[in-house]
Amino acid sequence: MDLYEYQARELFRSHGVPVLGGAIATTPQEAEAAAQRLLDGGAELLVVKAQVKTGGRGKAGGVKLARSAEEARGRAEDILGMDIKGHTVRTVLISEGADIDQEYYFSILLDRAERQYLAMCSREGGVDIETLAKERPEALARIGIDPLEGLTPQVAQRIVQAAGFAPGPIADQVATVITQLWEVFTTEDATLVEVNPLVLADDGRILALDGKVTLDDNSRFRHPEHEALVDAAADDPLEARAKAAGLNYVRLEGEVGVLGNGAGLVMSTLDVVAAAGQEHGGMRPANFLDLGGGSSVEVMATGLEVVASDPQVRAILVNVFGGITSCDTIAQGIVSAVETLGGLPKPIVVRLDGNNAEAGHAILARAAIEGVTMAQTMDGAADAVTAIAEKQPAAAGTADAEGAATGAPSRTATPTAPTAAQEA
Ligand code: GDP
Ligand code: MN
Repeated sequence: MDLYEYQARELFRSHGVPVLGGAIATTPQEAEAAAQRLLDGGAELLVVKAQVKTGGRGKAGGVKLARSAEEARGRAEDILGMDIKGHTVRTVLISEGADIDQEYYFSILLDRAERQYLAMCSREGGVDIETLAKERPEALARIGIDPLEGLTPQVAQRIVQAAGFAPGPIADQVATVITQLWEVFTTEDATLVEVNPLVLADDGRILALDGKVTLDDNSRFRHPEHEALVDAAADDPLEARAKAAGLNYVRLEGEVGVLGNGAGLVMSTLDVVAAAGQEHGGMRPANFLDLGGGSSVEVMATGLEVVASDPQVRAILVNVFGGITSCDTIAQGIVSAVETLGGLPKPIVVRLDGNNAEAGHAILARAAIEGVTMAQTMDGAADAVTAIAEKQPAAAGTADAEGAATGAPSRTATPTAPTAAQEA
């Protein structure tokens, strides 16, 4: 789970990381009142910051300075409702502002490939760190952290030295903040803690001005307090629905819905769909959905409904290799979903192999559902589904979105009856 900046700051504060005061607001009036409270408390500079779970808010105009409550209200008016990389701003953080002397960068993340943590630190913060890492890698210190040793004060000293801080009080202060951020990382079970910029303020303080935190969802069971950080509104509604149904579903950005059984098979299905899509208008997989082993008719039907209700999806591939799961159950699930939905919402290509494949084929042939294409091989299925998707109208945000969700197959040149597609 990714946190909003204001939530990250609260976690920082609770672990002693120096941050400035602030409050969130969802209306210009609230923003003005929050600003007034900060000014009354002695703040001289205010910052109005869009709260969206994406970076680059500053560049997009989502971070603005203000010196009066009225000005803060105006900036909040500008920022609320703004679209930043597809995220609508519904909340702003009204924060006390800092007079910045220097902007630094610091992050800790889980480095799966190296089976350790990775700390990164630079004296050139505030900028896009990917660009810095590419163009001037020597300016970004990267220090592996042994999970058994942890980020001790000694390691923190090594990090600031590697980043080029001259020995002295500033380096020591940065090192102290780094150990506090490590404390956040470990006690909160984070997989990412990033501060960009970590600043040296004019008054000599080191402050975390921005905060990006990703919490490890696998640790939820031991952090009941993290439930309060869940933002139901911002969670993907399709992912939420799939989760409620116990499905392992991850939404991606493409046009071809994918359902399969077993994480490995689904992952390779994503690969073959992406490869086949290169020959068919750049069609890409729209999701990962693992039906799991031994899935029932209901699970299959719900899975198909979830995938089909993604407006981006133009066509769907069901790729099942029957083991514990039997192919007749899958076929029955498709029939059942079509009955529930009152028709097939999007064309689907079905490849069934393994346990009871013949029975599955027979069920689909008998049902003769318009818009279902049978395929014999995984590659053939990927080719067929991307070809069909390419011919479908684009959906998201267009008038077609409605049509595509309610019976697009009949408007296209896709096969209209179950056919045993004879692919190469
Ligand atoms: P991001 O663009 O989403 O990473 O948002 P940040 O919180 O990092 O803010 C972007 C930029 O706004 C920072 O790099 C700073 O240059 C500037 N900024 C943010 N907070 C302050 C502040 O308190 N005072 C001043 N002077 N600038 C700020
Ligand atoms: Mn930032």
